[in-house]
Amino acid sequence: MSDLDRTLIYSPSALMLAGSDWDAPRLLCVEVYGGRPLSFVTERAAGLLAQVAETGMLVPTTTRTVEQYQRIHLPGPAPRYAICANGGRLLVDGVEDRDFTAAVEDRLAASAPHAEILDELTRVSDAGGAPAFVEKVRDAAGLFCYAVVNRSMLPSGWLEDLTEFADERAWGVSLQGRKVYLVPAPLTKAAAAAEVAQRLGVSTMAAAGDSLLDGELLEVADRAIRPNHGELADTGWARPHVDVTEADGVAAGEQIAEWMLEQVTTGPWPAGSDHQPPLPGHPN
Ligand SMILES: [Mg+2]
Repeated sequence: MSDLDRTLIYSPSALMLAGSDWDAPRLLCVEVYGGRPLSFVTERAAGLLAQVAETGMLVPTTTRTVEQYQRIHLPGPAPRYAICANGGRLLVDGVEDRDFTAAVEDRLAASAPHAEILDELTRVSDAGGAPAFVEKVRDAAGLFCYAVVNRSMLPSGWLEDLTEFADERAWGVSLQGRKVYLVPAPLTKAAAAAEVAQRLGVSTMAAAGDSLLDGELLEVADRAIRPNHGELADTGWARPHVDVTEADGVAAGEQIAEWMLEQVTTGPWPAGSDHQPPLPGHPN
């Protein structure tokens, strides 16, 4: 299970290329948006990811909506399962699993309604004068919402107040790049990943991610890795079973791809199969 943005794929502003331009790695564009290249992996990462995908075990696990996810073309065969909308949608062979969607909507009854949170985000985003620190507020498939912000202009205490408001309503806040996400507490990548692991019949899971929204996923995985950048790195998040890349930016993405290939070739799941019975003696 792997997060995508700033874990496997990188926008130009997230590349963090070190050294001189002459030594920069060759990049492969994996997403075009509005006719322009938007997300990249290194050429070497592309080869590694294709090998991981060929085992059938790579499950993209993203906060992107289905529509945003479908713009991405990862190297190798298309993933059989993909988790979108932070665990709110499951794609099976590219098609939304309606039973999964229905089960998620039941779970969401435990947190405050989406409309109340969206209203508050819209209200606090109205700067009341130029220049505005929030560029836009967006609804994500009626499941969660986010604001695109100018980070250097955020009023002090703004994020903290919003976090407190959300907290009281069983919602969480995550700041990633220029986006402030508000997500209901029951909507997690970890819950969706557990469901996919069960469908695949695997009893062990490896995971990668960079943000607070990935924390629980890394937590429940048997082995995990996070890049040396992003929200988890910024907060010093560490667990004994979670590796950290040496590199940051798109080079970290390459190290994560390398790590994932290592897991599928030396891990408890033999390569070349997408359905494994639980291992004898392994606690489920
Ligand atoms: Mg990410």
